[in-house]
Amino acid sequence: MPKKNSLISYFGVASLVVTFALMCIAQLWYTMFLLFGFALLVVLMQGKNTYCAHYCPLGTLQDVMGEKSQRVRAFRGVRWLKFLLIPVFWAAVIYTTYRFRSHGAQLWVWMLRIMVSMFFLAMVLQELLGKRFFCVHLCPLRHPVLEPARRARNCAVKGCGGSGNDSSR
Ligand code: SF4
Repeated sequence: MPKKNSLISYFGVASLVVTFALMCIAQLWYTMFLLFGFALLVVLMQGKNTYCAHYCPLGTLQDVMGEKSQRVRAFRGVRWLKFLLIPVFWAAVIYTTYRFRSHGAQLWVWMLRIMVSMFFLAMVLQELLGKRFFCVHLCPLRHPVLEPARRARNCAVKGCGGSGNDSSR
């Protein structure tokens, strides 16, 4: 259980448990899309990315398993890694959804593989390159979806000259 004053969020732990229940027990192949929809809703309602700080199950897992990890190291190849990983992730998600749309069991297996792959990638990168390296540099939800949505929302609500840089970790 999270300790008092820990960076690990109770909401994140709850989100982790719910995600596990939906994906692994109820076997809902669209669990990842439910998470993405919730993340987008939070960002659009609040105008800041509290999803990453408090609710994301993968972010919480990185916090749980990397409390003693070093700070993120500089890595010169990260720019190209991001441009490679994000399109590959979304291509895999879209292709899998389309390819197995009529085969629920296979669709669930492939979605689980994609989610587990992201989990292992995040953990390995955190070990090698620093705490939440995956979140800071590579996340295929945060960088192409949540950050542009947050900026657009704040631009629409507060005006484009206002503060649009209140991001999260
Ligand atoms: S950056 Fe991605 S993996 Fe990290 S907390 Fe945010 S949504 Fe989750």
